[in-house]
Amino acid sequence: MLLIHPPQVRNCEPPVALAHLAGALIAAGEPVTLVDGALEGFLWLTDQPCGDSTDLQGKRVRRKKDCILSFSQNPDSFDKYKKKISDIRLLASTSKPVIERGTKISPADYQDPQLSPLKSQDLFYSWTHPEENVYFPWFSLRLKPLLKEKDNLHVGVSMGFLSQALTGMAICGWIKKEFPHSRVILGGSLINSWLKGPSDTSSLYKLADKIHHGQGEKDIVQFTGREYKGPGIPSFGDLYNRRISKDYLSPGRILPYSAALGCSWKRCTFCSETWEQNRHCEKSSDDVVRHLSVLSQKYNPSLIHICDSEISPELIDRLIQQPPGPQWYGFSRFLSSMSSREYCVKLARSGCRMLCLGLESGDQKVLNSLQKGIRLELVSEILKNLKEAGILTYVYIMFGTPAENRDGALRTRDFIGEHSQYISFLNAAVFNMPIASREDDNLNSMEFYEGDLAIYKNFIHPEGWSRGEIRTFLQKDLKKITEIRDILKRTPPVFTSSHAPFMAEFLQKE
Ligand code: SF4
Repeated sequence: MLLIHPPQVRNCEPPVALAHLAGALIAAGEPVTLVDGALEGFLWLTDQPCGDSTDLQGKRVRRKKDCILSFSQNPDSFDKYKKKISDIRLLASTSKPVIERGTKISPADYQDPQLSPLKSQDLFYSWTHPEENVYFPWFSLRLKPLLKEKDNLHVGVSMGFLSQALTGMAICGWIKKEFPHSRVILGGSLINSWLKGPSDTSSLYKLADKIHHGQGEKDIVQFTGREYKGPGIPSFGDLYNRRISKDYLSPGRILPYSAALGCSWKRCTFCSETWEQNRHCEKSSDDVVRHLSVLSQKYNPSLIHICDSEISPELIDRLIQQPPGPQWYGFSRFLSSMSSREYCVKLARSGCRMLCLGLESGDQKVLNSLQKGIRLELVSEILKNLKEAGILTYVYIMFGTPAENRDGALRTRDFIGEHSQYISFLNAAVFNMPIASREDDNLNSMEFYEGDLAIYKNFIHPEGWSRGEIRTFLQKDLKKITEIRDILKRTPPVFTSSHAPFMAEFLQKE
């Protein structure tokens, strides 16, 4: 079976979904070929000539291309790191195919000037006109020989993000046109969100032989006609050992791993995990530590990324007892166990390099209304303990939830300001209401984005705390605080949390 991860999403680590699907297929005896378009397609773009002969920047980055794309010698300051990322971006954005089509592109994003991934008619257009896609020359050349192999009669296309949707559909359409006997299954978390939401998704079923939502391992094995023999051990095939001579765009090798699907808490009212009612399926902690040990020995990563929506408290305890070897990071809730300094020290000893923590608000009333299940006193203690133990923190906050008003937002700002010395990185976002949310039952809601496949919706804020006002607040009130501005300035451009664990050295120099 051929498994494809379409461009364009962050290309600093292999796609975790493909590795897990491959593990189940291999366990069932199915040979698998993995193609990661997010890296290969992007690198193909960087190989293309400059699209504008008068563009001096475009020419400059091409002269130093190999050096820019290599992380074998990491930059020795944050400024040099930022310059490198900006040059990587320029290599693709100044390439001829991108300039000709007018696409907006980065190593983490793709926006077509004419087509929207939120409109089913545009997805269908992309499916029927694959040759118009920026990546067409790459994927047609790369996939043709693979699709001629008899082992690749079945093809899986996995889409997790909107930025993959148009190219993913172009790939599906091209395969069905050129290789009509191929059987294509389409899945991934984006497809899951669409199918679980209220939009009419009937048109999607015409674009592949099978559309899948939820945990994909069993389904994909059965799609090939084989018997499911369990999830197996994730396999990265030759994604790390590539013939195209470049490794992932990261200061160190990252090994992604999913220990669970869905979230065990699943109560936060703003979160699609809650509204999509995604089943929580967790691997046994025995399997997780065994897999991590096998995979670490095989691929020798410098960092493990545990990709779960939130790493379960039980798994964190197990990682403390049986550290995986390499350092690791992932999303966690503010757990009461972390209020113990000793516990945080043990956590650091287990290799925990960074925790991504959803705080959302520094106003207790708002937190209660969001059903976050955390108290600010506990958050305060945990942030201090993690800092003391040497664990980096990437804290997420958002503004504009129905229960928040300007005063609540100011309380969040003050909480962050007071704890700035304990926060390594900060993500401050404007709240987006998931399309499947029932939170707006008592609110006046309406379409947010143009398109029948929107995944968020708009609403009239009960206290008039509008998106425009919130954006002004972020610029004027939040960034007015020097300590907060300093944290925000540390955000690694483009790769954000994926590269943040590698930034410790730069933070120490601050
Ligand atoms: S915000 Fe995090 S903890 Fe809350 S339901 Fe979503 S994934 Fe779970």
